[in-house]
Amino acid sequence: MSGSTPTINETQPGINRLTGRADPFQPIGLRSRYEHNKRRFDAIGPLEKIYLFWIVGASCDGCTIALTGATNPGVEDLMAGSIPGIPKVEVVHTVVSVESGAEWVHNLFMADRGELDAPFVIVWEGSIMDESLSGDGYWMGLGEDPDTGRQITSLEWLTRLAPKAAATFAIGTCATWGGIPAASGNVTNASGVMDYLGEEYRSAFGVPVINVPGCSPIGDNFVETAVAVLLFLQGLAPLPEFDELGRPAWLFSETVHRHCPRAGYYEEGVFAHEYGDKECLVELGCWGPVVQCNIAERGIVNGVGGCMQLGGICIGCTMPGFPDKFSPFYASSPGHLISTSLSRVTGTFVRTLRNLTIGDKNMSPRWEHLDTLPSGWRRQEATPFGLEKLGHKFYNAFQRSKQSYN
Ligand code: SF4
Ligand code: SF4
Repeated sequence: MSGSTPTINETQPGINRLTGRADPFQPIGLRSRYEHNKRRFDAIGPLEKIYLFWIVGASCDGCTIALTGATNPGVEDLMAGSIPGIPKVEVVHTVVSVESGAEWVHNLFMADRGELDAPFVIVWEGSIMDESLSGDGYWMGLGEDPDTGRQITSLEWLTRLAPKAAATFAIGTCATWGGIPAASGNVTNASGVMDYLGEEYRSAFGVPVINVPGCSPIGDNFVETAVAVLLFLQGLAPLPEFDELGRPAWLFSETVHRHCPRAGYYEEGVFAHEYGDKECLVELGCWGPVVQCNIAERGIVNGVGGCMQLGGICIGCTMPGFPDKFSPFYASSPGHLISTSLSRVTGTFVRTLRNLTIGDKNMSPRWEHLDTLPSGWRRQEATPFGLEKLGHKFYNAFQRSKQSYN
């Protein structure tokens, strides 16, 4: 990277005038830059720190909130530099940074001029709106040119900084595929970062756009991906595996359905009739069988929560086809008729056999021998008899036979 060395002296903001040392109550960026004012980044890892510029387009800030739910590790672990092998991450965020206004934007100018003392990554939240359609105004303003007063947009910063960034992350479905602002109608011609930067885009360290979708995404999904990429940038690990759409493959290759806590009901052909029922929600409009998302096994925060766990259907929010290809929401998909009909047929048969076996496994051999069930909770007098009893005996004999283990 090129550019002049920043000239920060003891009279500048961020420096305690009495001690001449970095003032802990002053903006983080300036303090940090003072501490490293003699060293500028000009080589790849091992890095002591890295800047993270969080830039926002058409966004509801939900991805920012989702990020704070990461626990394994958390954002605060990244910022504190407490993860072994991972550089300390200096977060320059549009909402939660200590700096504001021109001082905040100054960070971007420094990055653009190559004046930072460490490399930087970009995290883009929200859709990209087509500023060429905004007429005399703009949709995504982010600071002014201090020399001319010209309004600068977020999109201009992305254009200028993305080729210089160590990596560019798109967080959330708006940033990855366009999301809600790109739904039918789309008067702003909204799209994702990948669409805007194009397939030829590579970061300064040779990485295409990294996509972590979800509306909102799982915080742990993003931080885990960021840590994996940082390990790569440090030279401590290979580039993690991404799929053809730039998603972390280990997080998005499975469907929701395969890990859903209600999948057993689907297999046995038992379906919910209304919200609040405990069974599979496919007939209420769940798209889980064809949606790539790991919320069923990961939960939403610290392993807890998630759509089906909380009684909701999957509306496909991680997918590029969202929302149009999954609408109308809460209406069952056309394809579900085939699979649920088959499941009802096979499930009814399998469920009957399983219920018989459950009955058998709930009888101790001693009770069977005495032909009694000595429980005051018993609702029916009868213990298994006739065909049911015969079935249990046959099953147990078969279970213990040599064939059943081959
Ligand atoms: S609720 Fe959805 S994801 Fe879960 S088993 Fe049913 S169809 Fe699959
Ligand atoms: S289960 Fe479906 S609706 Fe829920 S987060 Fe995953 S993709 Fe989105």
